[in-house]
Amino acid sequence: MPHIVVDAGHGGHDSGAQGFGHKEKDINLRVAQKVSARLRKLGFQVTELRPDDTFVGSASERGRKVAEIQPDFAISIHANSSGGTGKFAGAEIIVPLAKSVARFEYPLREKFAELNNFRMIFSKESKTQNLREREINPETLRFTRTYDAIDYYGIIREARKGGVNLDIIEMFYIDNEGDLYTFLNQEDEYVEAIVYALCQAFDMKYSRGRNASDGGESIDIKQSQHEAQRSSFPYSHGNNGVTHLQSYQPLMSSSYGYRTSSYASVYPSIYPALVQSTVHRYPSRRI
Ligand SMILES: [Zn+2]
Repeated sequence: MPHIVVDAGHGGHDSGAQGFGHKEKDINLRVAQKVSARLRKLGFQVTELRPDDTFVGSASERGRKVAEIQPDFAISIHANSSGGTGKFAGAEIIVPLAKSVARFEYPLREKFAELNNFRMIFSKESKTQNLREREINPETLRFTRTYDAIDYYGIIREARKGGVNLDIIEMFYIDNEGDLYTFLNQEDEYVEAIVYALCQAFDMKYSRGRNASDGGESIDIKQSQHEAQRSSFPYSHGNNGVTHLQSYQPLMSSSYGYRTSSYASVYPSIYPALVQSTVHRYPSRRI
């Protein structure tokens, strides 16, 4: 069976990015736990690099751990931030320069694009810090170009030294209110997107779970605590009086099989300029 390492980015004293009362480390952990449970249910072997709210090492240290574990593939789950500016929105996938698992990245890009906006697949060179946007040939499901350089991102670089491919998944921008709530409104759809793409990549049969805790006894308790928390805290932002409870509620009663509104329709009038100016759908731009 395919062996996947799932890393929940940050943890413990390292909160990661923050936005509108949400900490990245919590969201990463929640998604990683759900993804892991679903993968196990579908027949994958899963190693959770950070199964709880503790700090398990720097990015490079995590990469070295991944290399030691020697899985078939690894993912590190994150939420993005543009330094609190809220300037950007959408998902990104960061891949190794030289190698890739395009059979994972391609379907993931498609699924993320359905949920919200997809910004780009890219890698970065360590020396020059050059950003390399990657294009996938849909026929061959390979990147049209690969780069012979050292990866900038420590977790990718160190995993590669052990011959393991690892992708960083930046699901959305936590400092962009619209992006954050679009994610929260369809969190389990993001989980399914990742699970579906992994099934595609490893020729595993994909079937949809009934709810978020399906297949994961280990997350039942945390899950229900979390649900209770969510019930008592309807997502809303105080300063403009717009409540998100309405769009959030269906997700609580029926986690799957329900498509909530996308970014543009949840925020038709609040962020029109933002949608126009900073959000672009894939393919976005060439670097
Ligand atoms: Zn992060």
